[in-house]
Amino acid sequence: MSLLEELYREAIMLHAKNPRNFGELADADVVIEGRNTSCGDEITLYLKEEGGRLADVAFRGHGCAISQSSASMMTELVKGRSIEEVRDLIGKFKAMVVEGQPPAPELGDLRALEGTARLHSRVKCATLAWNALEEALLKLEGK
Ligand code: ZN
Repeated sequence: MSLLEELYREAIMLHAKNPRNFGELADADVVIEGRNTSCGDEITLYLKEEGGRLADVAFRGHGCAISQSSASMMTELVKGRSIEEVRDLIGKFKAMVVEGQPPAPELGDLRALEGTARLHSRVKCATLAWNALEEALLKLEGK
């Protein structure tokens, strides 16, 4: 394993053990539940929107390290951003993990999940929180 891969592995374990923005938002505008039955991962995503931005984001869940660290890093990355920026990040993350494209620098720590593109069974783990986010944005728009 290269030093970079080792550092990335550490980032994944760190977020899985000590997830950021973990909990519920009592005043959430949208709540979305996501499930990855092939691995047993579950997450519930809470979004609060204000003036076209994600004013607050939180999640609860359990499952494998990849699904939970992806959710944790995702909440850190999108919190405070405009809906448009968030859509762009969803596209960049999926391009990396689903299509196997080189990671965009904007993804920050989430580049640690680049390797999941080569492990087809784990793609659903990595995208669980992101699919929930995409669904939540659609729901926000419909409001
Ligand atoms: Zn999983």
